[in-house]
Amino acid sequence: MGASIGGKTVVVVGAGIVGAATAYFLSRSGFAVRLLDANAPASAASGAADGAVSVASKRPGPMMTAALAGIALYRRLERDGPLGGLFHERPTIMVAEDEHEAETLRGHAEALAGAGKQLRHFEGTALPSYLPSVSAHVRLAVEVGEEGHAIGYEVVRRLIAASGVAVERTTPVLELVKSSSARSIAAVATPRGPIEADHFVIAAGGGSAELLGLSGTVRPRKGQLVVTERAPALNASLPGSLMSCRYLLSKDAILAAGGAAGRRFGLVIDPLRTGQFLIGGTREESGDTSNDLAAVRIMLASAVRLLPGIARLRALRAFAGVRSATSDGLPLVGRVPGYDNLIVATGFEGDGICLGPLMGRTVSRLIAGEDCELDLAPFAPGRFERRSLVA
Ligand SMILES: Cc1cc2nc3c(=O)[nH]c(=O)nc-3n(C[C@H](O)[C@H](O)[C@H](O)COP(=O)(O)OP(=O)(O)OC[C@H]3O[C@@H](n4cnc5c(N)ncnc54)[C@H](O)[C@@H]3O)c2cc1C
Repeated sequence: MGASIGGKTVVVVGAGIVGAATAYFLSRSGFAVRLLDANAPASAASGAADGAVSVASKRPGPMMTAALAGIALYRRLERDGPLGGLFHERPTIMVAEDEHEAETLRGHAEALAGAGKQLRHFEGTALPSYLPSVSAHVRLAVEVGEEGHAIGYEVVRRLIAASGVAVERTTPVLELVKSSSARSIAAVATPRGPIEADHFVIAAGGGSAELLGLSGTVRPRKGQLVVTERAPALNASLPGSLMSCRYLLSKDAILAAGGAAGRRFGLVIDPLRTGQFLIGGTREESGDTSNDLAAVRIMLASAVRLLPGIARLRALRAFAGVRSATSDGLPLVGRVPGYDNLIVATGFEGDGICLGPLMGRTVSRLIAGEDCELDLAPFAPGRFERRSLVA
């Protein structure tokens, strides 16, 4: 059991998926919540994501453990919570396009099986009957079961509605105001004046970095995505989302480079329930949300190489979002060292749709002084030495 710190009022900064889930779980536990957003709900990363709720691309360790718990919670919230009809279960199909990728994928599949994931391997003559529309050069496909998809902005909308909390839009938090003891936060400063509370949660995605003095530790990482027109037959030929092994390798390369890795491509082709395809994406050291033709061309060319039928479809739109990334690839979740009543939950990079509800529940339990199930030690906000957490 964690120590409960008194008081029932909470200010949550940021109405993305993490802030919305925090507000939902806190209000169910009897807390009075004020949910503030600089702009509007899901106006940042949560509204510009693919919605993979997936363990498949996680390496063994704390993120794999968290993703397994994240999927279990989506299932529960879909079955008897506010996410009914929003969480769509389907496998992730990891594909290797050459022998090097096949070797990587075999090793990764072992790790996933060790974590209890249900897997099926397809190669040789078994491949075309399982994936008839996929290109013949594919060497190996591994179907990872018990995965799913959820559209981030819809999850945010449902959680906020179920929380009963009215979002205070266009209310940017400008700074945190310390109490006279300096061991706690007294209020957040906003253009509409200070807002006091007993507890404060910083779930402001990229905005968290500035509030906590973490610029440099939490960095923007842009991703570009493309959505095609509907193609129901081609869509139905895929039993789940296709994830090229390159996706895994590009994440590894970025970690190995300590984050500063320029632009990387990792291919995912997600058959949406609308009959369209969502094709992604890039990982770029940038905080802008523009698309460029060069990136879109590379993404579409690699999608066509893997799933040739895509060549017949029109791309309806391209968009980009900005993930919040840390240099060790793990989020920051927990109490801010030195403060009794300040919690941060940010830095979820490309995993926040999967982990958002779980992290909202975790933060709510921390505030209520309850056991949060998840080991938060790897996500400790103070682990980056010499970095400021609240200037
Ligand atoms: C291209 C792309 C693809 C992705 N695909 C997936 C995927 O398939 N699966 C997956 O699990 N994840 C995916 N993600 C990652 C996921 O979208 C994020 O990790 C997640 O949305 C982060 O949620 P959040 O609530 O922490 O932050 P955000 O959604 O960024 O929300 C933060 C909110 O805080 C507000 N804010 C900021 N500063 C302040 C301030 N000072 N005061 C008040 N409010 C403030 C913002 O306006 C915003 O609404 C993807 C992301 C991108 C960009």
